[in-house]
Amino acid sequence: MRDVRMRGFAERADVEDVERFLAEHSPPLGSEQVASSACAGRILAAAVDSPGNVPAFDRSAMDGYAVRGADTFGASPYDPIRLTLVGEALPGKASDAPVGAGEAVRIMTGAPLPAGADAVVMAEVCEEEGGKVEVREAVAPQKNVGAIGEDIRTGDALLAPGRHLRPQDAALLVSVGIGAVPCVRTPLVRLVVTGNELLPAGSEPEGVKIVDSNSVMLAGLIERDGGITLPFEILPDDPDAIRAALAADDADVVLVSGGSSVGKEDYAPQLVAELGRLDFHGISMRPSSPTGVGRLGAGIDGSGHDRFAFLLPGNPVSCLCAYEFFAGPTIRALGGRKRDWPHPRVDLPLARKISSELGRTDYVRVAIEDGQVVPLATSGASILSSTVRAAGVVVVPRDAEGYPEWAEVEVRLYDDTTETYERPAQGRPSPASSGPVGGIQ
Ligand code: AMP
Ligand code: MG
Repeated sequence: MRDVRMRGFAERADVEDVERFLAEHSPPLGSEQVASSACAGRILAAAVDSPGNVPAFDRSAMDGYAVRGADTFGASPYDPIRLTLVGEALPGKASDAPVGAGEAVRIMTGAPLPAGADAVVMAEVCEEEGGKVEVREAVAPQKNVGAIGEDIRTGDALLAPGRHLRPQDAALLVSVGIGAVPCVRTPLVRLVVTGNELLPAGSEPEGVKIVDSNSVMLAGLIERDGGITLPFEILPDDPDAIRAALAADDADVVLVSGGSSVGKEDYAPQLVAELGRLDFHGISMRPSSPTGVGRLGAGIDGSGHDRFAFLLPGNPVSCLCAYEFFAGPTIRALGGRKRDWPHPRVDLPLARKISSELGRTDYVRVAIEDGQVVPLATSGASILSSTVRAAGVVVVPRDAEGYPEWAEVEVRLYDDTTETYERPAQGRPSPASSGPVGGIQ
């Protein structure tokens, strides 16, 4: 493999090619049995059918009296019907006595309907006195009864594969007695954070040393995307240390932060090529052009891969951008989720034009002010605060030279904001009153 260090890239891959490659190589991981009581938030790997009926027995939907509906015909406040009380049914405790003609059993919501009864009269239209019940309203058979299998029948499909399980799904599984369900295995992610200049998160910046902020950002993104970040340590720019970290085969995805470009101390690309395969290095995009994508481990020449390696530039904005384009969709897909942008998108007019170069994909951080999209910066990959000020990003694809002012653009929001972004009132928007214009990176 050509050593790109201090020479630069001969040619760069297109974003779409890398995306296509990743989509083709990241089917969901295998499945594992997960206790139904703990499955909320997981992705269901196979269809689940009901092993039984819900309800499993005819039950009362009301507090009242279980009767034979036919016995109550003609009952009214002026002409009540008197039935003989023969027993009581409670939730979890059936009545010993069946209901015969002219008889009733006191019954509570959720209690099993006694044999012989076919309806429940609600307590409000009855009066109990001396072993008798006066019924002042007629009920048709089946009235106020939850019939066996009314909700779910044995064999009914309960949940489809790929379902992102909700708390109520877990509750339903438990309610029909399913103890565990197959869920897609959670992707394990190893962070390989490199840089002699880095101090661990929690330190104060000191002299020419800076605090490793990428790992904090990446860990949050990994969690958002359904992965688990394995414990890690910051590594010096030392090829042996980085080689050892890349060789550890305990993860499904390896994210290398820093040391991924063409600098003198950028060892990771060579090491990925040495230990596996470096499928891409150098992508025509801004920021993040030094991004690399490879695979590590024994499986790469056979059934696919053992683990992906993403070489993310150390500059925080590039690191975020490369994660969002390539690593994030892959982690989501491995975990059985959709590859798509994981937050809402909004279409709004541009307050200022965005320029881009043909042949390059741009990731433009934007604010939304007064319903207009305000570009914050198109370069300045080290300016982390631009991603904090931004509501989201506009992606300018390879075949566009940018967008003119007032063009309608799609903003991929950075979160599931509950704010609604209202478009400006009729007509051309006034220039955005605040926020950086053009040059501020
Ligand atoms: P590199 O990709 O290693 O050449 O790093 C590019 C820039 O990103 C340098 O200014 C680094 O100091 C900075 N950088 C590298 N790693 C991190 C990190 N983990 N957190 C914050 N900044 C970083
Ligand atoms: Mg570095």
